[in-house]
Amino acid sequence: MQAFVQDGVPLAETTLLQNMERLAKEMQGLQPDSAVHWTAKGELRPQPGAEPGVWLHLQAKADLPLTCQRCMGAVIAPVEVDQWYRFVATEDIAMAEDDQSEEDLLVMEPHFDLLALLEDELLMALPLVPMHEQCPVTPTLSAGEVDIASETAEKPNPFAVLAELKKKKIVI
Ligand SMILES: [Zn+2]
Repeated sequence: MQAFVQDGVPLAETTLLQNMERLAKEMQGLQPDSAVHWTAKGELRPQPGAEPGVWLHLQAKADLPLTCQRCMGAVIAPVEVDQWYRFVATEDIAMAEDDQSEEDLLVMEPHFDLLALLEDELLMALPLVPMHEQCPVTPTLSAGEVDIASETAEKPNPFAVLAELKKKKIVI
C-alpha cells in the first residue's frame, strides 16, 4: 500500500462481477462478462509536524442487474463509487477520529485488500429498493390495449365459468 501510494500511479482495472461473491449474490441474470471498471489512486499529503498522510481515492462505475421490487424482473441499476479514504495506524485512531473526519478512515495494513473495499462500497451503493421507472409488463391497461381487452371480454369470463361449475355442483 505504501509503495502504491508513493508511486502515485493510478491503478485502472476491470474486475468481473462474478469474482465478487457477496455482490454477485445480489444480482439477477448476471452475465459472465459483466464487469466493474474502477480506478484507485494513492496520494501523500503533507501534514504539519508529522509524516505525510496517506490517502486513497477510489472510483468505480458499474451497471448492476438487480431484481425490480415491483415486477421481480431484472432491472439494470447504474452504481457509482467516488470515495476518499485516509489511512491511520491503528483501529483506535480510526475510532477516535472518525466522527470529525469527512473522509472514511482505514487502518493501514501491509497487504491491503483493495477489491474487498471496492466490493463493500458497491454493496453500500446499491439502491435500497431497485425498481424500473416503468416496468416492462404494466399491470393496468393503457389506451393501446383496449382492443385486446374487448377481445378477451368476448371469451368466457373465468369467474362466470366457475359460477357455472358451482351451479352444476349444486345440481349434482
Ligand atoms: Zn419492474
